[in-house]
Amino acid sequence: MKRALLRGSAKRSSRLLALLIGVLALAAYPVLSDNLYVQNMLILTFILAIGASGWNIMGGYAGYISLGSSLFTGLGAYTAGILVADFGVPPFIGCLVGGVTAGVAAALLSLVTRRTRGMYFVIVTFAALQLFGLIARNWKSVTGGSSGLAMPLPMWNIAYQDWPFYYSLLVVLLAAIAVSVLIRRSKLGTGLFAIKDDEDKASGIGINAAAYKMIAFVLGSIFIGVAGGIYAYYISFITPAGMFDIVASVLMVLAALLGGRGTIWGPVLGAFIIEPLSELTTTSFGGPNAGSFRLLFFAGILVLVVLFLPKGLIPSISEALHNTARMGALRIARGSSSSGASARTQVAGERGASAMAGDALKVSGLTKSFGGVKAVNDVSLRVGAGSVTGLIGPNGSGKTTLFNLIDGTVTPKAGTVALAGTSIERASRARRAHAGLARTYQLPRLFDSLSVIENVVAPERRFSLTRLFLPRMSGDERDQALDVLAQFGLAGFADISPSDLSYGQRKLVELAQILSLDPVLVMLDEPAAGISPALTERLTAIIRNLNGQGIAILLVEHDLAFIAELCDNVFVMADGEVVAEGTVAELTGNAVVVDAYLGEPAALGIGKVKS
Ligand code: ADP
Ligand code: MG
Repeated sequence: MKRALLRGSAKRSSRLLALLIGVLALAAYPVLSDNLYVQNMLILTFILAIGASGWNIMGGYAGYISLGSSLFTGLGAYTAGILVADFGVPPFIGCLVGGVTAGVAAALLSLVTRRTRGMYFVIVTFAALQLFGLIARNWKSVTGGSSGLAMPLPMWNIAYQDWPFYYSLLVVLLAAIAVSVLIRRSKLGTGLFAIKDDEDKASGIGINAAAYKMIAFVLGSIFIGVAGGIYAYYISFITPAGMFDIVASVLMVLAALLGGRGTIWGPVLGAFIIEPLSELTTTSFGGPNAGSFRLLFFAGILVLVVLFLPKGLIPSISEALHNTARMGALRIARGSSSSGASARTQVAGERGASAMAGDALKVSGLTKSFGGVKAVNDVSLRVGAGSVTGLIGPNGSGKTTLFNLIDGTVTPKAGTVALAGTSIERASRARRAHAGLARTYQLPRLFDSLSVIENVVAPERRFSLTRLFLPRMSGDERDQALDVLAQFGLAGFADISPSDLSYGQRKLVELAQILSLDPVLVMLDEPAAGISPALTERLTAIIRNLNGQGIAILLVEHDLAFIAELCDNVFVMADGEVVAEGTVAELTGNAVVVDAYLGEPAALGIGKVKS
């Protein structure tokens, strides 16, 4: 253990040393050499690296691919250009204001794209770029239109050449990298990775996805805007075609993908490879169609990278290096996890006894159809505070859809939902989670980009801006989560990816995860289906224990023996309606219930029930 820690810190300091040498070499270059060609190439590389790093916060961390990010370059450039050329504002301030303009534009674009995902986000950002380009071309009185805007010449001594551009861009790049690191290590980063993996699930554990995405987009865009401002002053003459340039957008995406999106250094490495290539194409593709050739060339490389190097260089290389080490760690984890199978779960119960009186959940008249199928039809049911209530019914009877209506994944056509006496049917999914509603899924949904323990810490009990910038996991949070994992018999798996777990273990981790919401009500969708008898036993003990702490539970399960052992009261659904309610003993004799299961006592599991 100690040796591993030592090795870790040695690795960290050698990485820091490499970084220091790299930065010093870049900082020394203009002083040591007056090769302006290389200096120019490095300046353009810095600009691309800033663009790719800025893009990466939204595109790599949150998984939202923007094809319009050069719109922030353009906005930064024109803001700085107009301020400097027309109003005599100092360039330094002009560039910073350019960053602010880009940030504001990103916030607005976030609002517009709040509900768009995947391909639609790509298209909207692309369209936004075109729109801003169009405005810049036509708003001639301010931008100079297609004939461009000239900036005043630099006022410093010619002996300093391009140093001010070079060093200010190097500083902006280092700042962009530092912010990327900070975000990655903060709760904001956890949330963004969760959003990338499974945005719906993230909302269900209280993560305010819209706010996270807006902050990510704004932070990334500010850097692109500042760099755009410096770029404008550097080339001293800007045109809409050159600034709001789709090729520049593609290059940012390409650099990030090639180097490894979602990593810190991937976008930077990618930029250092792509920019020299780009330089080559500008010198070798001439003529009126040069722009189209370049677009085709880079689009082609983009396709090749997506097909043959989907993770990018840095992840692929580090995977190859670490594969053997990781297998070893996994073997150790497997070995140690068999101990500690007791299930005395202690969840920090801040909500206290306030939720104890009345109903934990009260559903009235919930209705939802999919096309012609009435999946849930006028369903009313209640889960008493502190009770374990069962919900059974044949496949397709509407149980999962009912869960989806209760937690807001699906919007009902009619009906009301109250959690501990407060009506929540109009609340967002994150709000419902904050109110203490927690659920698991029939097929467990975990964030594979996060470790098991990070998954457990990920849920958010309330939204607060300052919290987003706290470290990803405090010592206390880690201890608490380790405690819960230990009680579930999963402590040995804390630091591996959930994708390395068995199906049953994933189900348990999901349960451990939602307990971090400090729930009033836990809805479990077939928790025992497809897991081993040993895990089922552990699960029974866990559910009993949660219930003992006053958490109400709504349990969907096919295994009637399991239901009979845990539930005080059971609802039966068939064809989207509640057809019966009672104890298991009462229900097994009920003709309607037996009929609902197509008259197959075996399907009901009746044979297994002893009472
Ligand atoms: P259960 O969980 O009880 O097996 P479900 O709630 O999954 O049942 O499904 C109830 C009915 O609603 C089924 O006929 C199913 O095909 C339909 N259904 C559920 N979700 C959707 C959806 N998103 N789109 C269309 N039909 C759906
Ligand atoms: Mg279901």
